[in-house]
Amino acid sequence: MSGLPGLVAVDLEAYARAANARIRYEALDAGESGYTVSKGTGFVITVSSDESPERQRFTVCHEIAHIILELPSVHGELPSWSFAKRDLNEVWCDIFASELLMPYQHFMQKIPEGDPSVESIETLAQAFGASFPAAASRYASLVSFPCAYVTMDREVVRYAGPNAALRRKGIRMAMKCPIPPGSVAKRLRTAGEPGTAIDQVAQDVWLENCEGGYDLWELSRHYRKHDQTISLLWCSEEELPRGEVDRFNRRLSDDEGGLEELTGVLTWEKHGRRR
Ligand SMILES: [Zn+2]
Repeated sequence: MSGLPGLVAVDLEAYARAANARIRYEALDAGESGYTVSKGTGFVITVSSDESPERQRFTVCHEIAHIILELPSVHGELPSWSFAKRDLNEVWCDIFASELLMPYQHFMQKIPEGDPSVESIETLAQAFGASFPAAASRYASLVSFPCAYVTMDREVVRYAGPNAALRRKGIRMAMKCPIPPGSVAKRLRTAGEPGTAIDQVAQDVWLENCEGGYDLWELSRHYRKHDQTISLLWCSEEELPRGEVDRFNRRLSDDEGGLEELTGVLTWEKHGRRR
């Protein structure tokens, strides 16, 4: 760990040593972040020196993931904006890398109180030497309230991850589809300017299996250079359907509401009014 106050950036050299790897930095082809080759009894991780320091740190962790998890690399077979599914090895290595770069206990201690904001994500990103998108993704997965993280390449939603609080309610999100109309992300990308915006959108813009009439907050940032956009989505627990779902995605009733047995008597109460 760094000795600077407030900084918890992990020591990548220590990680590399633990994986029996050496890190070197050199200019690589555009779009190539890094690769690993075995050498003698260990490994050499080569990282693109042209990318941002945050991106380089993520790449080192991603390559260490390939070594530790013994998953062969499947880089560069598909353009990143493709509708096609990204190779699972790469997805797993990204998740592993995120956990190396932003270790659970340290990250939980650093999550600011209150609603998500640009400032809170930037503070986390700086503290861990991570990019804004990487910190936003980790944030979404670890907070206890309903939250999701979405990455978009060009006009396509490449990854959408509802966190545990959303999944418990049976909420799903579409992927490999165009960026939904009505979203902040769509508006930012259409404007064609790099920038960040926060606004409220209807839940069904992004979420499947939710109930109509409720809103969701969306914090979106557009990166013009590579035409990439990310969104952080969240709402309060009270703004979601009551009751959890079972493994067949059937809603279970709970003490306060949810589905009740049919009695033959029509009621018009919506879950949001039952307190
Ligand atoms: Zn990889």
